[in-house]
Amino acid sequence: MAANKKLLILAGDGIGPEVMREVGRLIDWFAKRRAVGFDVSQGLVGGCAYDKEGVPLTDATMAAAMAADAVLLGAVGGPKWDNLPFEKKPERGLLRLRKDMELFANLRPAIVFGPLADASTLKRELVEGLDMLIVRELTGGVYFGSPRGIETLPDGTRRGINTQVYTTPEIDRVARVAFDLARLRGKRVCSVEKANVMESGLLWREEVQKLHDASYSDIDLSHMYADNCAMQLVRQPKQFDVIVTDNLFGDLLSDCAAMLTGSLGMLPSASLGAADATGRRRALYEPVHGSAPDIAGKDLANPLATILSFAMMLRYSFDLGEDATLVEKAVAAALDRGYRTGDIMTPGATRVSTTGMGDAVLKELDRLAA
Ligand code: NAD
Repeated sequence: MAANKKLLILAGDGIGPEVMREVGRLIDWFAKRRAVGFDVSQGLVGGCAYDKEGVPLTDATMAAAMAADAVLLGAVGGPKWDNLPFEKKPERGLLRLRKDMELFANLRPAIVFGPLADASTLKRELVEGLDMLIVRELTGGVYFGSPRGIETLPDGTRRGINTQVYTTPEIDRVARVAFDLARLRGKRVCSVEKANVMESGLLWREEVQKLHDASYSDIDLSHMYADNCAMQLVRQPKQFDVIVTDNLFGDLLSDCAAMLTGSLGMLPSASLGAADATGRRRALYEPVHGSAPDIAGKDLANPLATILSFAMMLRYSFDLGEDATLVEKAVAAALDRGYRTGDIMTPGATRVSTTGMGDAVLKELDRLAA
């Protein structure tokens, strides 16, 4: 068995270690049943790192993250650390990881499993079977552009300034990620901006089209204004396969798409960096939810968002698409059999603990692999 896939696990705070424990059981299952081996190491991030090491992320853990093929993170934060100075806060550990690993592409899938379709605020027929992916540019745009600030004008009034700015390499690299991912899925990309009113949006549209024509003509590319995209997401979300958009619009649209699924405990995510000469990309996989201090330590948390993040890791970092699909099928089957943690509980279903949901997924993996 090749154990050359270097995986760093940072379980973090609150429910982080609980949901990550279930991923640990999946890793053992893959080693035993599929001969898929990982060279796993563990580290501290967030409040637990502050408690033990005085900072939310040590240089040594950062170096381990840089050397890993993939990092899998649970969640950070909690009331215990709320009053720490800004640079010591648990979230700073996560921000440093994202910054130093130069993770410029944030991937947020919105998948609706049939048995959970009624958890959405939209009608079942609009969301059932939904499987789309938003690729958001994460390190550029208006959140980082300069000039920025608040200034007082000579007449005493004040002016707030932020600058939306994108360069062609920034657009090109995130669009490449979207096109590459579309090749692994439905081969459709919708690029979203406001080219009608923003020059940066016009540049975005032109560059994405140019890249498509040069290197990705096998992908079906469309363009959409961001306001229309927000409407289309709640009107007919299943029209989308991959959406690629900038930092600001991606922030809004990915939360909107998340709500189509109706459930925080089910949402995985990935953040990718540039590919090196060997094609390896730095990558961080994590559930969208936080550390849920209100249910931490009680074996109540839904581990599926983290398990689905693990599946994304198999597919996008290790090219193990078949194994990723196996995990996703096992999750779907466990839900089909009526197993639910409290957050996704429905009348008539069987309520299970964090461990109980892990058991259910492992049982389905056994069945699928038999
Ligand atoms: P949260 O996502 O932790 O919790 C929101 C609500 O959803 C809570 O009621 C919680 O019990 C529930 N919930 C979340 N995940 C769940 C799961 N897997 N299973 C069942 N229920 C789940 O958000 P919050 O309460 O705003 O923040 C709590 C702490 O987490 C804060 O310290 C915040 O800064 C931090 N946080 C961290 C991250 C991260 O690590 N990426 C993200 C968001 C918030």
